[in-house]
Amino acid sequence: MGSKEQSLHTPKRRDAGPFHSPTDDEKFMRLALREARRAMAAGEVPVGAVVARDGKVLAKAHNAPIRRSDPAAHAEILALRSAARKADNYRLNGCCLYVTIEPCAMCAGALVTARVRELIFGASDRKAGAAGSALTVLNHPKLNHRVTVRSGVLQEECCAILRQFFRERRHEKHAGRSAR
Ligand SMILES: [Zn+2]
Repeated sequence: MGSKEQSLHTPKRRDAGPFHSPTDDEKFMRLALREARRAMAAGEVPVGAVVARDGKVLAKAHNAPIRRSDPAAHAEILALRSAARKADNYRLNGCCLYVTIEPCAMCAGALVTARVRELIFGASDRKAGAAGSALTVLNHPKLNHRVTVRSGVLQEECCAILRQFFRERRHEKHAGRSAR
């Protein structure tokens, strides 16, 4: 039966039409990229995230597991927490999350729990991406909540910052300096 397979990739949508214009997409992804650069400056893997609702920024954050000694301190989790505090509601209905790289399984699970409406990411992550690249947590047929997923917004920039980070880290290791 091919119908189940298909539902993985073409989730039912409760609302019609795009939630943000392409201009909004670029604007919010540029903010997420700025957050990613902050992570890089702090020696963290450069990932940045923005939560938007009704065309406005609700929260933004960058990756900080090393600095916070917190394995859950991914950009998406920190942005969702901050947005939920501001909204005074752990359900983020009608919110869109922009992130520079495809979320991992933990972050994808948090997006479902928070009932986020739409995920927009820049670069795919073949090794750990849970929006269909390595795993399919979002829009899994067993889960009730559907998240609209779009990818490839400012993809080049999102890939470039990660490439730059890992290239520099390799150089540091090569030069005998600690990467930490
Ligand atoms: Zn994550």
